[in-house]
Amino acid sequence: MNDQNLNPSGLPALSDRDVIDVDVVIQGAGPAGATLACCLAGAGIRVAMLDRMDLGSMEAPAFDGRAYAIAAGARVLLERAGIWQLLPWPVGPIDEIRISDGKVGRRASPLFLHFDQKEAGQGSFGWMVEARALRIAINRRIAQLPNLQLFAPVEAEIAFNDDAIKAQIIGGPCLRASLAVGADGRRSKLREQAGIGLVTLPYGQSGIVCAVAHEKPHNNVALEHFLPGGPFAQLPMHGTELAPHLSALVWTERTSFAARLMALPDEVFIREALRRLGPHLGAIRLVGPKWSYPLTLQHASRYVDRRLALIADAAHGMHPIAGQGLNVGFRDVESLVELLTDAHRAGGDLGDVALLAAYESRRRPDNLKMLLATDLLDRLFSSNNPLLRLARDVGIASVHRLPGLKKRFMREAMAK
Ligand SMILES: Cc1cc2nc3c(=O)[nH]c(=O)nc-3n(C[C@H](O)[C@H](O)[C@H](O)COP(=O)(O)OP(=O)(O)OC[C@H]3O[C@@H](n4cnc5c(N)ncnc54)[C@H](O)[C@@H]3O)c2cc1C
Repeated sequence: MNDQNLNPSGLPALSDRDVIDVDVVIQGAGPAGATLACCLAGAGIRVAMLDRMDLGSMEAPAFDGRAYAIAAGARVLLERAGIWQLLPWPVGPIDEIRISDGKVGRRASPLFLHFDQKEAGQGSFGWMVEARALRIAINRRIAQLPNLQLFAPVEAEIAFNDDAIKAQIIGGPCLRASLAVGADGRRSKLREQAGIGLVTLPYGQSGIVCAVAHEKPHNNVALEHFLPGGPFAQLPMHGTELAPHLSALVWTERTSFAARLMALPDEVFIREALRRLGPHLGAIRLVGPKWSYPLTLQHASRYVDRRLALIADAAHGMHPIAGQGLNVGFRDVESLVELLTDAHRAGGDLGDVALLAAYESRRRPDNLKMLLATDLLDRLFSSNNPLLRLARDVGIASVHRLPGLKKRFMREAMAK
């Protein structure tokens, strides 16, 4: 093992006795990094995963208000990782999706789109899974895997050379591996350290996220109203004893207006939400706190570097308009699992340049397509420009007239 250039932090050189050998080091134990870790460890690959946060604290109800719309393809991956089976409570299926083009407080455009899982004939479009439920399942799974070593909360310095990477945990052990994976989210330190450029496009919008209990059942129907400030989505969740009819709201607005909405007393906030949602669910009330996330498109100029691969939000971040951010990240995980398990079985180098190039070429076109599609959707539907309104009405009418096109949309949404 060549230790040259391995010490940018000025840490003293280590003897082999102080080093823990693994195959892959993953920085970031978010849903993408942790799913990758569980899949690889389950396939016999030795994994070390690092996070700067304590994973137990991420189970707290106040940590993250998001609920993910998990598509069918992503569910298969979570099952393979052994995570889906450990979800602590039932998830809400999405069996119908209604999309309308409207104005606040007015009836939706008559040209609304309706997707029914019965037409697609392949089961539910997806399942609503709270970030907290996913975290509990991930933490349970990590504890079951002897091949997976977790270091959290820690900070680490990772150094790269031609034949290995070394991750020096500050105040802790040093890990040596063939590959480092950057799963450290939108502000990825590993991406920055490798000097990988980033294209960013702030939307000037924020996504408000909360859960609401309602009087009438949602019947597993998801609704998305395209409004001038941004899309407003109601996503059906599995009810609880105290809130038998429950939905998640993902409400996009211009950032300055979103800040005003967030500052409103709850009863006024709910009144504003109801004006956008419409009366079909009866009276609604907030369950738990509300969160607001600034929205930015971002894309890394490369996903790989010497013995480094970036996945999910570390490589790309998109508008939540189609609820696809994590689903697309899971497709990165799927590709990397396939390439790494094949190389491991063949006794190959897991940080091989050709393997990393294959990962990048598999994932980049698909991610770019989704980044552009979500960006276009947001621009098209958040505009009051009469020409753009005409274009989207023609688009919606075409989807209605062409059953083949409608089926294709449904398959894309399910990521099958
Ligand atoms: C409002 C909103 C709604 C959304 N809805 C959906 C949806 O319905 N469906 C969907 O698929 N996606 C959705 N998304 C997108 C989704 O939230 C993200 O794509 C997903 O959380 C990314 O997961 P990740 O594991 O890549 O990163 P993260 O969840 O950001 O995890 C990164 C991890 O890395 C750790 N970390 C960071 N830096 C370091 C470091 N230097 N050292 C060690 N650890 C570090 C962090 O502590 C964290 O645990 C939504 C996003 C928003 C904003």
